[in-house]
Amino acid sequence: MNLTQAQSVQQLLSRPQKIAIVPHKNPDGDAIGSSLGLCHYLQLKGHEARVIVPNDFPKFLKWIPGTQEILIYEWDQSNAEKVILEATVVFTLDFNDLSRSGAVEKSLQKVSAPIVMIDHHQAPHDYASITYSDVSMSSTAEMVYNFIEALGDREIINADIANCLYAGILTDTGSFKFASTTSRTHRVVADLIDKGASNSEIHNRIFDTNTPDRLHLLGCALNNMVILPEYNTAYITLSQDELDANHFRKGDTEGFVNYGLTLENIRFAVIFIENRDEGIIKISFRSEGEFSVNEFARAHFQGGGHTNAAGGKSELSMEETTSRFVALLDQYKSELAK
Ligand code: 5GP
Ligand code: MN
Repeated sequence: MNLTQAQSVQQLLSRPQKIAIVPHKNPDGDAIGSSLGLCHYLQLKGHEARVIVPNDFPKFLKWIPGTQEILIYEWDQSNAEKVILEATVVFTLDFNDLSRSGAVEKSLQKVSAPIVMIDHHQAPHDYASITYSDVSMSSTAEMVYNFIEALGDREIINADIANCLYAGILTDTGSFKFASTTSRTHRVVADLIDKGASNSEIHNRIFDTNTPDRLHLLGCALNNMVILPEYNTAYITLSQDELDANHFRKGDTEGFVNYGLTLENIRFAVIFIENRDEGIIKISFRSEGEFSVNEFARAHFQGGGHTNAAGGKSELSMEETTSRFVALLDQYKSELAK
């Protein structure tokens, strides 16, 4: 965050405000951790702040301090819209384009209060009054830490804020392993531990709370994996019937896509998950190295994200979607061989 932005925010927050904080649809650890971390900070500074998420989020995130007070837009639309429209400042976190906020978009379109964007996705849209966008950042949670520091408040970070931001950084860096993890990320995380983040307990609550159903679904996913050595690519499919048979619950497929990348020489990993309710195949893309899944998802699957992690969707059947995907790979053959 540059000085001018910090000064503009400082001015905005110089008197008590009513603040709504909105992260992206299907909120992940970074969306929830960064939003709640910011919420605790703003409350500590004397503002009235509330997090509104577009839809529900996985159980393994529901221990994060403040989750009980989150408003879920799709469950409580009139209340949630009221909070957004009565807000005197709105923060949008961990997304770059209003359409990523799902059903909340129509409320956000009506907002006349200043909007502050904090986000690390590529190609940010120009909808905010203050845009703090940095695609080199590991996570939006790390950016919230920078934001608090830029406002001169690093010293007031308490255990609640620290636990939230740690959870966001942990999940968005794949436990500090993705290329976006810098020495600065580790310094931030070290400071968060000093300020009360229970690091070992957080890892445990996020990664070691599997259910037998989830592990069985993982078994099914790994069984379905198709490896295409000529393209250094591996993909997984999960049909709605397979999800149903394993009593799928939100969040159960989190991280499955990464297994493809654990194979030697595999640089492009994909998971296709059928969602019968929405009539789509939801797709997650991951890569190692320079192959940009953000560009791939944008060009072919109505999506986007980061260089090494992106998402998208397809309205075709599972078979048609995977055939189309495989047919596309030929034009990327040399890039994927690098
Ligand atoms: P995931 O595969 O974990 O759902 O998402 C990986 C990354 O891609 C995240 O940063 C997420 O925000 C982004 N992403 C996921 N789905 C979509 C999508 O449909 N459109 C866009 N633009 N980004 C997405
Ligand atoms: Mn993120």
